[in-house]
Amino acid sequence: MPERVLIALGSNIERERNLPRAMALLRRDSRWRVLAESPIYETPAVGGAAPQPDYFNAAALVESNLAPRDLRRALRHIESRLGRVRIRDKFAPRTIDLDIVLVEGKQLLLDGNLLPDPDILDHPHLAFPLADIAPDWVYPGTSLTLKQIAERLYPSAKEIRKMAPAMKEKIKSLSHYGSDQVFEAEEDEVYDPEFEDLIRQILVRIGEDPEREGLRRTPLRVAKAYDFLTSGYTTTVEEVVNNAVFSDSCDEMVIVKDIEFYSMCEHHMIPFFGRVHVGYLPKGKVIGLSKVARIVDVFGRRLQIQERMTNQIADAMMDILSPMGVGVVVEASHLCMMMRGVQKQNSSTITSAMRGLFKKDPRTRSEFMNLIREQ
Ligand code: ZN
Repeated sequence: MPERVLIALGSNIERERNLPRAMALLRRDSRWRVLAESPIYETPAVGGAAPQPDYFNAAALVESNLAPRDLRRALRHIESRLGRVRIRDKFAPRTIDLDIVLVEGKQLLLDGNLLPDPDILDHPHLAFPLADIAPDWVYPGTSLTLKQIAERLYPSAKEIRKMAPAMKEKIKSLSHYGSDQVFEAEEDEVYDPEFEDLIRQILVRIGEDPEREGLRRTPLRVAKAYDFLTSGYTTTVEEVVNNAVFSDSCDEMVIVKDIEFYSMCEHHMIPFFGRVHVGYLPKGKVIGLSKVARIVDVFGRRLQIQERMTNQIADAMMDILSPMGVGVVVEASHLCMMMRGVQKQNSSTITSAMRGLFKKDPRTRSEFMNLIREQ
């Protein structure tokens, strides 16, 4: 029987990056399912001798078949991927903390620690995010719900700031969709030691010396690059669309042309890239144009084959908008073929996916094809 478990997250070292990354790693793991994520809270550090930076705190609700002990071990593993070294000082700053704080309906002892974590009862940085995602859960051993516990703590918690959703978006964009800085290595940066080790092994395997000056930071940059180029695995269409679907009586074909995309072929893990054209015939609902490009990224930033990506984009548009029909055309160049000379430099592979009227009605389809050909 799967159990539902609440996990508390906290970070006060490079928190803008570490908290979203921990959340992304949680989402990516197939041993459990993340059912809910709280907003992020900015909270002052508690305890400890020296003053230290404020925290980002959040919580996740997961459902898992793992025994709590095994789940805990898996969380420690995520912590170490993010460069966390556990030391004695309970109050020391940390890149990331991932703790099981409550197993639904149960009181237990996990490696010498009480669950539910008694700190929930008097620490707003724990209670608030938990109350956001599981307000009606009763704190085992009491008759109090998490919402009631949080409400009792409100008056004493003036310093805690709940991030506006826009801020959460922005933090997320720093981690997933970042900027030019995504692939850069900062001085003494710790990113993902385990991943970097694997890349170091590849370097050795191909006959390189990972210790030579030019390659010393390469594993870190490659790890970052891969996380970025595969960020589609940790992003959902719902997330990127984020309510940007509007009611509208428009019944003209809507076309978004020339959406640039970059993906990696799943056979060689080498880039393929090009342009996507998306058209749909609305049936009462339209979507923000920029969101179509974000949907393309969700499926592009994974290991892919062009045909599947084309179909996934079409199906996602059908799911979100339930339109009269959707057409998607992808033109792409595949480096894995170009670099071997299989594909001539200027040729491209074209795939298409037609749904609804775009499939059934030849006139709709040719209207779409003509519109995307127009300069
Ligand atoms: Zn390939």
